[in-house]
Amino acid sequence: MLDTKQKTLCEPFKIKMVEPLKITTESFREAALKKAGYNPFLLSSNDVFIDLLTDSGTGAMSDNQWAAIMTGDESYAGARSWQALEKVVKKLTGMPYILPTHQGRAAERILYGILGGKGKVFISNTHFDTTRANIEFTGATAIDVMPNEAKELEVYLPFKGNIDLDKTEQLIQKHGQENIAAIIITVTNNSSGGQPVSMANVKALRAICNKYNLLLIIDGCRIAENSYFIKHREIEYINKSYYEIAQEMLSLGDAFIMSAKKDGLVNIGGLLTLRDEALSVNCKNLLIISEGFTTYGGMAGRDMAALAVGLEEVFDEDYLHYRIKSTTYLGEKLKEKGVPVVWPIGGHAVYIDAKKLYPNIPVNEYPGQALVCDLYVKGGVRCVEVGSVMFGKYDKNEKLIPAQNELVRLAIPRRVYTQSHIDYVLEVFDEILEIRNQKHGYKITYESKFLRHFTALFEKLI
Ligand SMILES: *Cc1c(COP(=O)(O)O)cnc(C)c1O
Repeated sequence: MLDTKQKTLCEPFKIKMVEPLKITTESFREAALKKAGYNPFLLSSNDVFIDLLTDSGTGAMSDNQWAAIMTGDESYAGARSWQALEKVVKKLTGMPYILPTHQGRAAERILYGILGGKGKVFISNTHFDTTRANIEFTGATAIDVMPNEAKELEVYLPFKGNIDLDKTEQLIQKHGQENIAAIIITVTNNSSGGQPVSMANVKALRAICNKYNLLLIIDGCRIAENSYFIKHREIEYINKSYYEIAQEMLSLGDAFIMSAKKDGLVNIGGLLTLRDEALSVNCKNLLIISEGFTTYGGMAGRDMAALAVGLEEVFDEDYLHYRIKSTTYLGEKLKEKGVPVVWPIGGHAVYIDAKKLYPNIPVNEYPGQALVCDLYVKGGVRCVEVGSVMFGKYDKNEKLIPAQNELVRLAIPRRVYTQSHIDYVLEVFDEILEIRNQKHGYKITYESKFLRHFTALFEKLI
């Protein structure tokens, strides 16, 4: 690792291939956004300068990963690339049954399709939206149990992603252990701001699962980022490597689901790994029906080869230090400027409290959407609203029932942007702060029944 006295957080890589970015003007962006119905999901990526929409599948691969791509074995069965991936995943998870899928939600559909069904209950720190959707699709119920104090946006807690252990046990007793399909721990807790989960929390959860004979599933697509926080915040882990910490956490689970588009450092891919043979046979049957044969699932040989390399690279000390510190850099600088951010900063994204930043825009005019639109118009920065556009509902009089918070997420793609890009984003916020007293937001003119934020159209209120 570089000398820690160093002030500049240098990227621990140099650039060997470049992708040009288009520089646009404010009036160009105003027109482009209007054409997209003021919904940045509907923009062409060509018209975006800094794309912080998601960290999923948007990372850059290393030269070693690209080299692996070229040696990918595309054999239908028993491919070398599969064997390489299986070996890496077995070593990391300690689990004997490894199923490759095309992305995380395919693993979820397979596992929850088998465990779920009407009358079944899943309990989690927070179910990610595809997790909840796959569970509810089977007729089962998904219940989130975060500690109350973790819901305070600006309170510092070292492990704000933890599950509430008491509430979990109460729910098991309330619903009856025979009706609990599984407990799912999401690390890091994506929907709560990429906040970490402590080892102590997962160990205690394991004990509860043992007591009631329940399956513990680790939804661990950011397990390496979570390991960074454990090493630096949970004192007994300071001398363990990030890899050993991840191995220890995975040893506590009965199953592991991973969207490889996050800490797999690849653009597509997923994994489902299991300890139980009978469950693995059921899952493999569904895998073959819906994804592909057991030695490729939904992936090309070259994708598996790149993932095998990515799963080792992601635990590199210098990479993880840069990864977590660069996200923190953006969040801390925003806070210094007076932008209200969710605190502490999580692993993969910075969340802004748009209701607090834009105090004069009423919730039914979507302050988060206003910020998302302003960031694009002022700076060509694309991000996503995580508030009442995403989670709002209507009562029987068609009146908005707002979400709990009006947040905007700036997700950081892995190894893609340099510090100068991030400094530029900070400059764009100077302009945002100048217009924070504006009074009007947006009105929805079209929305779909499900997941409306992807396709909704808006009108700017003046
Ligand atoms: C992204 C994600 C998923 C779903 O994975 P996809 O690869 O997008 O299908 C599941 N759980 C968590 C916590 C995620 O962040």
